[in-house]
Amino acid sequence: MRIEMKTPLVEMDGDEMTRVIWQMIKEKLILPFVDLKTEYYDLGLANRDKTDDKVTVESACAAKKYGVAVKCATITPNAARVKEYSLKQMWKSPNATVRAVLDGTVFRTPITVKGIEPYVKSWKKPITIARHAYGDIYKAVELKAEAGSKAELVITDKFGNETRTLIHQFGADGVVQGMHNLDGSIAAFARSCFNYGIDCGVDVWFSAKDTISKTYDHRFKDIFAEIYENEYRTRFESLGINYFYTLIDDAVARVIRSEGGFLWACKNYDGDVMSDMLSTAFGSLAMMTSVLISPDGVYEYEAAHGTVQRHYYAWLKGEKTSTNPIATVFAWTGALRKRGELDSIPELSAFAEKLERACVETVECGIMTKDLYAISSLENKTAVNTEDFLDSAAARLRGNV
Ligand code: NAP
Ligand code: MG
Repeated sequence: MRIEMKTPLVEMDGDEMTRVIWQMIKEKLILPFVDLKTEYYDLGLANRDKTDDKVTVESACAAKKYGVAVKCATITPNAARVKEYSLKQMWKSPNATVRAVLDGTVFRTPITVKGIEPYVKSWKKPITIARHAYGDIYKAVELKAEAGSKAELVITDKFGNETRTLIHQFGADGVVQGMHNLDGSIAAFARSCFNYGIDCGVDVWFSAKDTISKTYDHRFKDIFAEIYENEYRTRFESLGINYFYTLIDDAVARVIRSEGGFLWACKNYDGDVMSDMLSTAFGSLAMMTSVLISPDGVYEYEAAHGTVQRHYYAWLKGEKTSTNPIATVFAWTGALRKRGELDSIPELSAFAEKLERACVETVECGIMTKDLYAISSLENKTAVNTEDFLDSAAARLRGNV
């Protein structure tokens, strides 16, 4: 008997190798076990072009309506893609479009398996990074300043009154930068992080540089503290989890000494840099999951990697590729588990758990795709193609191993 669903998942199909793997995952690992209900949106580049990218906006609106979406990797068009697909125009990144509708924070977590040890020996559990995705240097303005010039920061209020402060009197040539953020965006970021901590039962760390940046970074620290006290402290305490703020330099040192198993909320630039550090230190980009969580509680799950174009061209020539499907499987399990929680279908959440375990155990028993084969420390290991990997995971899921 297949597991029944109540509410459909919003299914956002994508491009290239991940689109091929998407079908295989559904066929081999989900449809035999779940009476899958989805509302399907084809975000493949051809259909985005055909619909003038309306399909992307519609899929994001559907995510808002139903609450849970699962997304395949998609091509972000550049000049080469415009030519390759004869596009009407260079459409925006679908992720940016979806984020603009949902207004969320992206959380990235490594999938850890035995045999692929993190470079940092003390890490026993995954570390999730939450990166604030608005403002700071990503929306900054910059100017060069010549020797003899004076740079000032000026704010003109709605009545025309000016507040100004000297940045620097330039005795020699130099550069100037002006950046901003918004209280509302910082607050939404803080709530997304606290909600994630509650959902996953993990501590939340937030780091910035308020000792030096006494107004700017301090505002972040204050907003986090205020929202925590007023809206979250009681729930955190009843779950036995903690929130704490620390300086970014102290956070870096603590992260390296830690056992892992917490959420690290980072400002935009810190999150950009630290997420690459963490994914590399944990082993592989192909083992990184990603979920966008909006402040009003919409969840969109995907893999952190792209469409694996090089493998797709090999596949088009008829070759069997050894592309790692695990992060894409985990996008599906993340979405199914969340649907199970929201709709009170414990069997569905339990199935998601079992499917994740089946994938992890397959790798831990030595059957893996080439990317993992190259870094696994297991002595008896075999590199297999994507289909064989999925078949092995399916056999394990059925209990035939
Ligand atoms: P990519 O698809 O992440 O792949 C880069 C390389 O990483 C691959 O060539 C492969 O290395 C390795 N790799 C990534 N995922 C793998 C997996 N699951 N299994 C095995 N190896 C894996 O990045 P890209 O080639 O730079 O980008 C391709 C397209 O993806 C672009 O059009 C880009 O716009 C899009 N993209 C989409 C998203 C998204 O939708 N979230 C994110 C990033 C990029 P080897 O070739 O050495 O085997
Ligand atoms: Mg980066």
